[in-house]
Amino acid sequence: EVQHESYWGNVNPIGIRSCYDEGKRVAETLCMDYFRQDRVQVKIARIFNTYGPQMATHDGRVVSNFIVQALRNEDITLYGDGSQTRSFCYVDDTVEALTRVLALPPDQTGPVNVGNPSPIAVKDLAQRILELCDSRSKISFKPLPGDDPKKRCPDIARARDWLGWAPTTDLEAGLRKTIEYFEEKLKQP
Ligand code: UDP
Repeated sequence: EVQHESYWGNVNPIGIRSCYDEGKRVAETLCMDYFRQDRVQVKIARIFNTYGPQMATHDGRVVSNFIVQALRNEDITLYGDGSQTRSFCYVDDTVEALTRVLALPPDQTGPVNVGNPSPIAVKDLAQRILELCDSRSKISFKPLPGDDPKKRCPDIARARDWLGWAPTTDLEAGLRKTIEYFEEKLKQP
């Protein structure tokens, strides 16, 4: 089950995360209206889960949370049973794709999916990070937040076709670089 650009993003409009989804939807709507009305040269890229150096320590995303917890030997906060899957794209790959999107001809507005098409279960991600950090942390199961998608994985056929792009950094290499970054960052006072 992968997500194509034809996905309409239908969400529960009163769900606890809907302001986030609906915000992205209306942003695309406005971009397309300005494009059609005034030929404003807009581009729409749909960015899936991205990670890498320079992430904030405390913004709550899974890769930064797990790495920071593992390096401090604190409990890993796993939401739900960890069987939900995500596909994580290394930031350099995301930036390369976005640069190419900007260089598309004026009439090619998108949307175009930008992400990594290899999913991993969140519990397996936790395990990989524990190993790579050589950590003594234990996994602590926490309640799954409402509206947490069970799967999220992009279809990147359009990005391959339009941009000649696909991610080149595999999860292990990307995690190593991200862990290195957080090791340095956590040493600072
Ligand atoms: N997650 C988790 N522990 C955390 C942070 C997140 O288990 O400390 C889970 C979260 O429930 C979701 C996945 O990891 O299933 C990815 O979460 P994130 O917020 O990074 O991205 P998104 O939910 O937007 O895909």
